[in-house]
Amino acid sequence: MNEITTPAATRPVRTRVAPSPTGDPHVGTAYIALINYCFAKKHGGQFLLRIEDTDQVRSTRASEVAILDSLKWLGLSWDEGPDVGGPHGPYRQSERSAIYTEHCEQLLQAGHAFKCYLTPEELSSLRAQQTAAKLPPKYDASYRALNDKVAAEREAAGAAHVIRMVIPESGTCRFEDTLRGIIEIDYATVDMQVLMKSDGLPTYHLANVVDDHLMGITHVMRGEEWISSAPKHLLLYQYFGWEPPVLTHLPLLRNADRSKLSKRKNPTSILYYQRAGYLPAAMQNFLGLFIKSASEEDEKTSLQDLIDGFDVHNISLGGPVFDTSKLDWLNGRYLREELTTAQFLDEIRKWALNDAYLLPIAEMTQSRIVRLSDLGALTAPFFMNRIDGLSVERLRDGVKIETDQQRAAYTLALQQFDAMVEWNKDNVDAALRKTAAALDIKLKDMIRTFYLAVLGSPQGVPLFDGITHLGRDILRERLRHAMELLGVASKKEVEAWAELLTQETSD
Ligand code: GLU
Repeated sequence: MNEITTPAATRPVRTRVAPSPTGDPHVGTAYIALINYCFAKKHGGQFLLRIEDTDQVRSTRASEVAILDSLKWLGLSWDEGPDVGGPHGPYRQSERSAIYTEHCEQLLQAGHAFKCYLTPEELSSLRAQQTAAKLPPKYDASYRALNDKVAAEREAAGAAHVIRMVIPESGTCRFEDTLRGIIEIDYATVDMQVLMKSDGLPTYHLANVVDDHLMGITHVMRGEEWISSAPKHLLLYQYFGWEPPVLTHLPLLRNADRSKLSKRKNPTSILYYQRAGYLPAAMQNFLGLFIKSASEEDEKTSLQDLIDGFDVHNISLGGPVFDTSKLDWLNGRYLREELTTAQFLDEIRKWALNDAYLLPIAEMTQSRIVRLSDLGALTAPFFMNRIDGLSVERLRDGVKIETDQQRAAYTLALQQFDAMVEWNKDNVDAALRKTAAALDIKLKDMIRTFYLAVLGSPQGVPLFDGITHLGRDILRERLRHAMELLGVASKKEVEAWAELLTQETSD
């Protein structure tokens, strides 16, 4: 009963990418999508896109649109999805609530799930007891026993509850991963996962399994961070009496220092790569290198080559390093070798010489211009990635605040920019004002330092408009550049500065 294996799928291949629309479109999503796409197409199968927006607080429609647009920009398309429809829709989890409720009810009826009435206080006090006893904190039999004692009473009183899945108290979950072979995970380490939250909405685990089954997914290829969830998912397949998909956990993209790819060290948003002037073909080729066999000589490849040559075993578990110098090299080759001058001009137009990008720049420059020939200097920052030729001297030119205050200002602004749900001028304005207040420096003095780091000169177009138009990703890159020159903040510094911001917020 405790031994589970994933049988090789015998049905026509169907894969999917299932992004959560909770932020900018991540290059990791594109990498996973590309693998699932190539695998499906290689086997004459279908590739689906499903939006996993069960986290109602963090999910936004703007993020969903950006993810879809970015994947399309990369040349990917899907046979079924929220925008193209299909026979297994809806493809947005927020529109499938009734399906999850019905399935959860089945689990309750069969005794594979139970209502948990424990309060957050009870849960944290039990957790504290486990920690004190040096046990890994998790919902186990002792929690369940406590819940059994109080459940009937609380149910009668109409108390809020969640629904958790039953996990065997002993035994081992044994399953096969295509790249890693047999994996064994003891149930003793697995939490009795919440399947349905108190608001009646499902968690990722329930929704993901139910949808993969109902959408006929045969192969699940996802990031390795989900390995520890596999026992829960496989148990759910068993509880429902369904055939599980073939599982492949893909190595995560890494920074050059082999840490997990993070935006602190590398831009991770596809929007950044668009704005920084990378061609979709080069980006697609670059991501494709992670799934090509290392022995293939020419590194230039097409989507069709990737499909034809696709073999999941070419993916090295070593952890693919997201080496942006390789991307630069490829992008340069595409720009120089693959385009006629007319096509090159067309790419420039698509990138920045179009009305959508130029109109806000025209508005900003018109308020500052004397001669049309001032345009080059005024608008140069909108056609760059990092500021060319930035130096410590240029960053400190005429600055009245201390270097450490300047570093703190960049750090705190970055933190707030990252946390901003909606990127707009009002929010940018508020974040910068709050930064100056937290550091107790004059806004005017701080503004100069942002002119220098973001626009590369002490004056230019109106700063807040400029920042807003450049976008969060280019901003992050420019502030990171400035911090590299002035001194990258230590963890201790970041904590101390963040504390000032917290105090400012609570005042
Ligand atoms: N929504 C999950 C994510 O964005 C999907 C994981 C999976 O592929 O199962 O990571």
